[in-house]
Amino acid sequence: MQEKVINTSFESLGLKAELLRAVTEQGYTQPTPIQAQAIPVVLAGKDLLGAAQTGTGKTAGFMLPLLQRLSEKANASHSPARHPVRALVITPTRELAAQVEESARLYGKHIALKSTLVYGGVGMQPQVDALRRGVDIVVATPGRLLDHVQQRTVDLRQVEILVLDEADRMLDMGFIHDIRKILALLPAKRQNLLFSATFPDEIRKLASSFMHSPVTVEVARRNTPAELVAQVAHPVDGVRKRELLAHLVKTNDWKQVLVFVRTKHGANRLAQQLTREGVHSDAIHGNKAQNARTRALAEFKDGRTRVLVATDIAARGLDIEALPHVVNYDLPHVAEDYVHRIGRTGRAGAEGEAVSFVSAEERPLMAAIERLMNRKVEQKTIQGFEPGTRNARPEPTEPHRQRQQQRRGRLSCQRNPLRLPCLIRRRRGGKRYGKARSANTGADSTPA
Ligand code: AMP
Repeated sequence: MQEKVINTSFESLGLKAELLRAVTEQGYTQPTPIQAQAIPVVLAGKDLLGAAQTGTGKTAGFMLPLLQRLSEKANASHSPARHPVRALVITPTRELAAQVEESARLYGKHIALKSTLVYGGVGMQPQVDALRRGVDIVVATPGRLLDHVQQRTVDLRQVEILVLDEADRMLDMGFIHDIRKILALLPAKRQNLLFSATFPDEIRKLASSFMHSPVTVEVARRNTPAELVAQVAHPVDGVRKRELLAHLVKTNDWKQVLVFVRTKHGANRLAQQLTREGVHSDAIHGNKAQNARTRALAEFKDGRTRVLVATDIAARGLDIEALPHVVNYDLPHVAEDYVHRIGRTGRAGAEGEAVSFVSAEERPLMAAIERLMNRKVEQKTIQGFEPGTRNARPEPTEPHRQRQQQRRGRLSCQRNPLRLPCLIRRRRGGKRYGKARSANTGADSTPA
């Protein structure tokens, strides 16, 4: 974590021994600013508006006091009827939900409270079973939670604490109606906590519609891109972006790169192409089954996957510390997304680099980003990838050229199968007609 509040300890915030023990086991020595401010407010039972992004320690800021408040009335009964859902945390993405629920388990390790995850993209039944067994805390994404409501597999009438996490993201993603439906299902008397990185009018309106005299706590943004992240833009033709990416990863020996693209399909295709070119890559986006997303993220975090290609939405809520390289393969249409994207690197004072590929059509987008940040991004053309110089592309390597020739041969044989070379190719089981061109492919000899 970056900032610490001097002279504040977790003990002085009024947390009970079981929680302090869990915090120490996590290796936290001091509360972060958001924790120091939020914990006493939540412990006092007040509504809270928290202006904080992921990465500031906000999860512990609400989870620790939430656990304490629930534990004050916890019971050790195994009866599901005695474990109504008492706290509900809503998040915009499955990844964030998983991280928050994991925090509930970690921080609540020495407390007898049960939590479960409810999100889409995975089977309903295991969630139904978990809810039936009785849980105190549900961490959910809005759509799947409403599916459970409709099937009457969750009862929200006894919720005492509601947390809306990353509220601005939820609104961006169009969840406002779902949120309002969920709010209508909760008892009127409850504690409300809302966290958001930004507070546009819509969030203020939403907050004022259901919160009671909330206390506002605010922490500085995690980092300002201008300070921590080295930014560079490479002008390049759109059709050569993939080649440029593979070139940069290989020549600079980048080990862990998060690449942003605009579409899910584009993410899949790019990951497959890079992997074929020897750069082990995977894609993460909303159409992937949840376990595939979880696996992709885990393999990226532990270094098995070198490049993770993501869409903006999938990348939200990913807690990947100190990424060395972020690549904007496609520039975002919304300039603010650029700031979110590059905020994934250079965290906690670590040095990070954000690289943007800018095709001619994307120049206006880059200009909008520069206006938003009020600074210019250095433009650097990479030799061999100058825009408009497609022919300057390095000569294909010998095996590459052979593959090209084989492909061309196959295509012309499909059109005219009775040509002599094609008849010979058929007899030879599909191999090219002609003399072997390189010593590497000695097996490819003159036709019989
Ligand atoms: P969050 O903003 O809640 O996603 O937290 C970001 C990261 O900070 C997580 O990996 C936490 O484990 C870590 N963290 C939270 N609180 C502290 C603390 N007081 N000291 C050190 N690390 C922390």
